[in-house]
Amino acid sequence: MNTITDAVVIGGGIAGLQVALDLADQGFDVVIVEKEPSIGGKMISLSKVFPTLDCSSCICTPRMAAAAHHERITIMTCSEVQAVQRVGEHFSVTIRTRPRYVIESACIGCRKCEYACPVLVPHEFEGNLGARRAIYVPFTNAMPQVALLDVENCTFCGACARACPTDAIDYLQEPAITEMEAGAVVVASGYALTETQTADRYGGGKLANVLTGLQMERLLAPHGPYGRVLRPSDGRIPDTVAFVQCAGSRDHSLPEGQGVPWCSRVCCMYAIKQAMLLSGSLPLVDITIYYMDIRAFGKGFEQFYQNARAMGINFVKARVARITEGENANPVLRIERIEEDGRVEDQPHDMVVLTPGIVAGWDPSSVIPVQIGSDGFVLSEHASLAPCRTRVPGVFVAGTASGPKDIPDSIVEAGAAAMEAANHLRRTAYASRRRTEAEAGGR
Ligand SMILES: Cc1cc2nc3c(=O)[nH]c(=O)nc-3n(C[C@H](O)[C@H](O)[C@H](O)COP(=O)(O)OP(=O)(O)OC[C@H]3O[C@@H](n4cnc5c(N)ncnc54)[C@H](O)[C@@H]3O)c2cc1C
Repeated sequence: MNTITDAVVIGGGIAGLQVALDLADQGFDVVIVEKEPSIGGKMISLSKVFPTLDCSSCICTPRMAAAAHHERITIMTCSEVQAVQRVGEHFSVTIRTRPRYVIESACIGCRKCEYACPVLVPHEFEGNLGARRAIYVPFTNAMPQVALLDVENCTFCGACARACPTDAIDYLQEPAITEMEAGAVVVASGYALTETQTADRYGGGKLANVLTGLQMERLLAPHGPYGRVLRPSDGRIPDTVAFVQCAGSRDHSLPEGQGVPWCSRVCCMYAIKQAMLLSGSLPLVDITIYYMDIRAFGKGFEQFYQNARAMGINFVKARVARITEGENANPVLRIERIEEDGRVEDQPHDMVVLTPGIVAGWDPSSVIPVQIGSDGFVLSEHASLAPCRTRVPGVFVAGTASGPKDIPDSIVEAGAAAMEAANHLRRTAYASRRRTEAEAGGR
């Protein structure tokens, strides 16, 4: 692999992919460093996207493929940046790649190893609602289509190695360190959710029929774990489903570290989207959205919200104090009705979907001296005038790494970050100088 590049993009979600494509299309060489075994980020796990209701994987997969096949883009999966140091005008970037225990160049993605593996464990990509083998291709349209071995659950029975037609299994693979020189770095490491933090109050991860928004995305996806929406506890079609808004956002009452005071920006819209999709797939289901206020601020969003109301989805202005488990593993919501003098009542439902708060996915200040805001997201040089520049010249930020946002805003910001990075590379003449040096070296 070429260890000198123009730009390193940290994170291969939709924002990172767009940054890489926009830079590569301008003639710059880009390396995407992605910690997971596939690029695609959260978007590739979504069912459909608001406000257009496009199939998410239908519009995300072509971007993944475009990046994977671009002659100027190199993708390093299972990889994390360990250090970024300024050396003159460029950066020295140290990348650690975890072993897949499968030789990437030899694996042809035939999945024969997976079919031979006797081990079954919960599948993270399916929100732990489905199962995978100990050796597996991360998901159907993963990129690269290369298997990886989960050594924690492997019994080392050797079935995968015997089944592999290309001798790609390598139980002895070691982590690899790559030292890379780059003229610019773009942080696109995305977001995480407060799902585990609010488990005590809302039962997420504890009560079988209390799911997170991302788990509901998988249930609604046509190729999801059950192929349709069923209750995880008993496989029954739910009669009533509740969505709990701000389950960890805009909440000052949660103990420190359990919730966030800000609005997570996408939850109202994705809950409305999921409610509409649910009503389409289970027309008899009774759907209630418990909310404080609906923030439908983007283009076409208000109409989307009004369409949901017209479809018969119930919107109840209430705060949910806690969720406990009642009869038949039904979640019971203790709600306080905001519009009816704060009346408190218990409402049982067959299934509940939480919309947890959005927090930063990674703290890059551990490896790059960028400034982090009190909310944990990367601070821009200027929130209004330079939202994609960090306070470190040559380091840029894109997508949800700088704060919660939806896909269209992440894409727009990625384009802007790529332009800022391109300007920086041209200004410092890093890219042209390195090509001249390479050509001179080659002569
Ligand atoms: C339930 C749910 C439904 C949603 N539905 C919609 C919708 O319908 N429409 C819409 O517009 N938006 C929706 N969103 C928001 C959407 O998911 C985000 O806008 C989008 O995914 C942001 O992309 P991103 O690239 O910034 O972040 P991510 O998708 O989080 O990608 C970040 C990438 O960086 C990688 N990464 C993280 N840390 C590191 C590291 N240290 N080193 C290397 N790689 C790293 C991650 O593995 C990931 O691949 C939804 C969100 C949720 C939670």
